[in-house]
Amino acid sequence: MNQRPEFQFENVPSGSKGVYKLSLPAPEPLGDLVAQTWLSSCGLQPEESIASALSAHWQDGALSTPVLVVRGKGSGKTLVATAGVHGDEYEGMEAIFRIFNALDPQSVSGTFVAVPVVTLPAFWLGVRSNPIDQKNMARVFPGSNNGTLSERIAATLLHRVLRHASLYVDLHSSGRNYHMLTLCGYSTIGSQAGIARSAALEFGAPIVWAHDTVSPGRTLSATLELGIPSLYTEAYGGGEVRPEDVDCYTQGIANLLKFLDIATLDEARLPSDYRPRILGGSGNVDLGIKNSRGGLFFPKATIGSTVRAGEVLGIVYSLEGNVEEQITAPQDAVLVMIRATNRIYAGELIAALASEN
Ligand SMILES: [Zn+2]
Repeated sequence: MNQRPEFQFENVPSGSKGVYKLSLPAPEPLGDLVAQTWLSSCGLQPEESIASALSAHWQDGALSTPVLVVRGKGSGKTLVATAGVHGDEYEGMEAIFRIFNALDPQSVSGTFVAVPVVTLPAFWLGVRSNPIDQKNMARVFPGSNNGTLSERIAATLLHRVLRHASLYVDLHSSGRNYHMLTLCGYSTIGSQAGIARSAALEFGAPIVWAHDTVSPGRTLSATLELGIPSLYTEAYGGGEVRPEDVDCYTQGIANLLKFLDIATLDEARLPSDYRPRILGGSGNVDLGIKNSRGGLFFPKATIGSTVRAGEVLGIVYSLEGNVEEQITAPQDAVLVMIRATNRIYAGELIAALASEN
């Protein structure tokens, strides 16, 4: 990894395909990063394994993450894709690898840039948030060059990679603890909204979620500030990676490359009868439905279903078997996301809703 050239967008030769590194200046030495990551694993991972994994990315006071780049001989637009902003969301990583491996720079006009694993310490622990500063990477953008590690990663990614995008797609999924509909989301706000809408429909996911607000701190809130048309994706998750979701993301990236006239891959496919279900609402899961009592949660409604106001979405039991709380829908809505992990603390997120457009 350390032998790779540093990624500089302007310096990538035309007609080339290669792996670069993006150095993320770290506020602490490697030994401290390893120790903090190990402590965050509650000792479940051997400290030597964490040290070995992180040190492979370490050089001169910086953690380096791979950047996969294909630049065609002809000029054209730039598609930027990221995955692993949350460390336990893997669908987008394989989709990026499949697209990168399929692309031939001889048949490309423009540039494909992908960062498959943005938050390295979270990835190596298999967790959502960055264990070093306990921050959710999707709440710290646009970041800061002299902040905590997450804030530095955000600022570096934004200024060195994301700002070059003609179109940006951030590949998420619902990770370990939730189930979510497989979807492509975009914001209906701003000058980029028309292109983002067309791109979201071109992606080809079964559901398109159109948001009338932009929640702060996200990759997309930062790129939208720069006027870059931006999309994100979500998938079923719950601790598993469904092959159909990786296929959907792979096809979606290929469709976007075709949409931007960068490349036409065999993976690009959009059936002529494609009619996605369109949902609306803020999409800010931080405003989702929370429980007040901790214990054991069991879902009683299925994602994708239309729930009625007052309908039971799930039950929280005490460890003695008492029904401590019934979680109900506050209004008629589509259930987009529900808790997959049964153990639950008080005040966690249970479910997220959307409106049918
Ligand atoms: Zn995520």
